Amino acid sequence: MAAPIVVQVVLDKPLVQGFDYLWDAEILGKLPEVGHIVEVPFGRIMAIGVVIKVSTHSEYEINKLKLIKRVAPLPPLDPALLRLMNFASQYYIHSLGETILPTIPQMWRKADDWEKIPKKLAAAEKKQNKKVIIGDGYIGEDQLNPEQKKALKILMRDSSTENAFRAILLQGQTGSGKTAVFLNWLSTTLQDPSAQVLILVPEINLTPQLERRVKAYFPEKTMAVLHSGVSENKRGIAWYEAITGKAQIILGTRLAALTPIPNLRAVVVDEEHDSSYKQQEGTRYSARDLAIWRAHDQLIPILLSSATPSLETWMAAKSGRYEYVRLDQRAQGAGLPKVNLINTRDPQTQFSPGDMGASKQKPLVSKTLANAVTKNLAAKKQCLILINRRGYAPVLSCSACNWLSKCTQCSAYMVLHKAGALGKRSVLSCHHCGLVKSIPSHCPECGNADLKTLGHGTQKLEDAIEEMWPDARVLRVDTDSSRKSKGAEELFQEIHDGNVDIVVGTQMIAKGHDYQNIGLVAVLDADSRLYSADFRAAERLFAQLVQVAGRAGRAGTSGQEGGDIYIETQYPEAAVFQYLLRHDVDGFLAYTASERDEAKLPPFSYQALVHAEAKSLDKAIQFLSELKTRLKNQGLINKELKVYDPVPKAVMRVAGSERAQLVIESANRKLLQEALEIIDQQLRQSSQGRISKTSRIRWLIERDPINI
Ligand SMILES: [Zn+2]
Ligand SMILES: [Zn+2]
Repeated sequence: MAAPIVVQVVLDKPLVQGFDYLWDAEILGKLPEVGHIVEVPFGRIMAIGVVIKVSTHSEYEINKLKLIKRVAPLPPLDPALLRLMNFASQYYIHSLGETILPTIPQMWRKADDWEKIPKKLAAAEKKQNKKVIIGDGYIGEDQLNPEQKKALKILMRDSSTENAFRAILLQGQTGSGKTAVFLNWLSTTLQDPSAQVLILVPEINLTPQLERRVKAYFPEKTMAVLHSGVSENKRGIAWYEAITGKAQIILGTRLAALTPIPNLRAVVVDEEHDSSYKQQEGTRYSARDLAIWRAHDQLIPILLSSATPSLETWMAAKSGRYEYVRLDQRAQGAGLPKVNLINTRDPQTQFSPGDMGASKQKPLVSKTLANAVTKNLAAKKQCLILINRRGYAPVLSCSACNWLSKCTQCSAYMVLHKAGALGKRSVLSCHHCGLVKSIPSHCPECGNADLKTLGHGTQKLEDAIEEMWPDARVLRVDTDSSRKSKGAEELFQEIHDGNVDIVVGTQMIAKGHDYQNIGLVAVLDADSRLYSADFRAAERLFAQLVQVAGRAGRAGTSGQEGGDIYIETQYPEAAVFQYLLRHDVDGFLAYTASERDEAKLPPFSYQALVHAEAKSLDKAIQFLSELKTRLKNQGLINKELKVYDPVPKAVMRVAGSERAQLVIESANRKLLQEALEIIDQQLRQSSQGRISKTSRIRWLIERDPINI
């Protein structure tokens, strides 16, 4: 009798080990390979797993092993991808199964549908052939400006040396034509019809534009688009085209970084500094960091592109660990926008009661800004006014007893949304747990009917702007308005078509869109993001403001003045604003680096969090305190490994659970990793999955957190 074939399979479970199954080649019609996606019986249910080992023996009794039921009609996940998954699993302290399985699209996780898939694929193929490809935004190599040409030449320099890892930072201000440079660079790689390239973008909203752009460069190539906004069906097909090598271009958001791309030759991470690359659920990976690891492992080049690089990447480029390519001119010759800081503490910038005429309400914008908007409108230019709070007002309050609209499930206020935003009627909504309530007609505490809003969000600002400039056409763009009747793309089109004079919105308008006629950009709530417990707040704000500034005067013709950016602030002297005033990205990064160095914060040290979630905060804190004490008693806490005291999270209560965290920090990456592995092991011993058996605490370890 032939030796039995035993395969080890990992499942989407927080279990460290895989499970042994028998493989019957006669029934399954093929021999097993590592990376095969299979359906297996698990307990009383069927589950999908991935084969990670093939052998002829098992530690268990062979005749008690269950049979593999089916194999997905797919090539196995390639060895390089499995190496990446193994690394991610170890580094981010998650089981291998938990790391791999969620990256496989739904369509391939339903074994009952496997047989129907060929039909779906054929239908998709037909549709694709019919699609007429119209592309715009093609800028060929000879159309590049001298600076872009120089950058491209540096990128191409080593393209003959195959099998070499290169990490390159392409730093250039908004409008300097970074995309044209990297697409021309990729075109050399893509000349080989078997080569595949991966392009990562931070946000779904940015993919349609880049998709059009890429199509314009490579009309004959198959492109797989992968992000959470794509239907499950389409995502399943795109993923299939990537794993089979049919798609030469894989474009997507962070989840695309873990796509099987067997013939991967080059990677681009656009807007590499963006925090959206960090996954905040499940395996909390950084897609950018994994892409760099992947390029390093596969000996291929990776290009990181940004106007405001992350401190980590910028320092790597400065020190020579990464290649450093700069674009310092705006591609179409438009001037830089002029930055104006409006000191809101200066009475001269503000409306005085005499200015307001019949209106008793103090306007939501400063007098200085209002005058600038009027002037800009007279010049037939569009205005962009940004406030990073959606909804009408952040809180509803009672003028008699000071009742506030607190969420019953979270330690957060419920935001007032006016009719039309989230439903037909006005509602109170919690942005943390999603709870929606109707607006009370009377104060629930004292019965007073006079309820007032405090503060303002995009909706209230929209109303105020309409009142101040009754002749202007005002459009609000935020996640509420883009979820409604029109998608974000259509709203952006309205702006492009010039059907709008003033756009009121959140940060989402400012990302990556090329508007033609914006003369003025204003930011109203910069201060609220300046001072925060998170040490990265200033870095993030600076990147956003540079991005926002880039929207002004973007498409000016050669020699034309850039637009104006206005920032309302009480602290015009803050470093972030002062460097912005001079458009000094490098100055700001150098300043931030010295601050972090002094405080020994990342990237001068490495951090991890242990999260704990319980019914009560006391229990969560106690759980973490006990953990800290244990670590201390074991001698793990020392000069090189610092463990802070447990603290409640910034938003402590969400959806009825109370949350605390423990920060662990070390300048020694290896030491931190070892400590985390020990913590993971110890916590697991007393847990079922990641829930402690005795205290029912849900815990999680997070590597390189970006929100502290
Ligand atoms: Zn009251
Ligand atoms: Zn809530």
